[in-house]
Amino acid sequence: MSAPIYDRVALIGLGLIASSMFWAMKRGGLAGEVTGYARSEATRETARRIGLCDRVCDSAAEAVADADLVVLAVPVGAMGAVAREIAAALKPGCTVTDVGSVKKHVIDAVAPELPEGVHFIPGHPLAGTEHSGPESGFAELFDNRWCLLVPVDCRSSGQVARLRSLWEGMGAHVDEMDAEHHDLVLAVTSHAPHLIAYTMVGVADDLRRVTDSEVIKYSAAGFRDFTRIAASDPTMWRDVFLTNKDATLEILGRFTEELFALQRAIRTGDGQHLFDYFTRTRAIRRGII
Ligand code: NAD
Repeated sequence: MSAPIYDRVALIGLGLIASSMFWAMKRGGLAGEVTGYARSEATRETARRIGLCDRVCDSAAEAVADADLVVLAVPVGAMGAVAREIAAALKPGCTVTDVGSVKKHVIDAVAPELPEGVHFIPGHPLAGTEHSGPESGFAELFDNRWCLLVPVDCRSSGQVARLRSLWEGMGAHVDEMDAEHHDLVLAVTSHAPHLIAYTMVGVADDLRRVTDSEVIKYSAAGFRDFTRIAASDPTMWRDVFLTNKDATLEILGRFTEELFALQRAIRTGDGQHLFDYFTRTRAIRRGII
């Protein structure tokens, strides 16, 4: 096995993404010692019990001391406070990255907290499940998935290449993008679709004339997928919508315009509108695959 990419990695927050990173780093021999910290005592206890991290620490500062790479893997709304908590303990010259689903807000919250000489390279693996917590991670989560890096400082290019190798070693393909574009791309590919899934499940639940068990029993893949998505962690998704407000509202505005046009076509019996619309969307799908 070749030499690790980082001698010491600290994972702050020990949920789905951090635990999957731990198992993926171990699978590839990509890190020497991996330390971990989560805010809740119960999570730290679970992590110790299942062997998640080489050392689970009782403070974030203890976990990051001596780390070459620090990964912030907490909900987006907690990133700024966590950066403040670890700032004084960071090793000069280390790299801090994050895995948050929103990038502009995280950069605005984290960058001002970090001391000079620390490389901040925001990131976002486009991989997940509806499960959360320290026991939900697995080594294959990032295999053949994309990880987007959002470098903010051109002086960090050597460190960006190193972080890219880590993600590639964990099985991901890596692209770089600026924060604003990232947030718009994710609003259309992930954030708005999640909100629509939440809404559909809420609508089905409200419809008293159809029982929940009928909904599950008779649904084909479409609605089942909605319920799976709607089971995702409420804290994480609350933070995503509060922090990617502008891009999500832009996409939802466009979505409701198109939905109203389709609704009108159904009401007025405008089959041509429906046919043309569905023909266009089918061509888009065929062009993607
Ligand atoms: P998770 O709920 O599984 O884990 C979050 C962890 O952070 C928990 O261990 C929790 O105890 C800890 N935590 C919360 N607040 C904290 C604080 N203030 N200080 C220290 N620890 C704290 O969440 P996850 O799915 O691993 O998500 C983590 C990050 O990854 C989020 O920013 C999310 O946006 C991003 N992300 C999630 C997915 C996904 O599909 N789940 C995909 C890509 C990126």
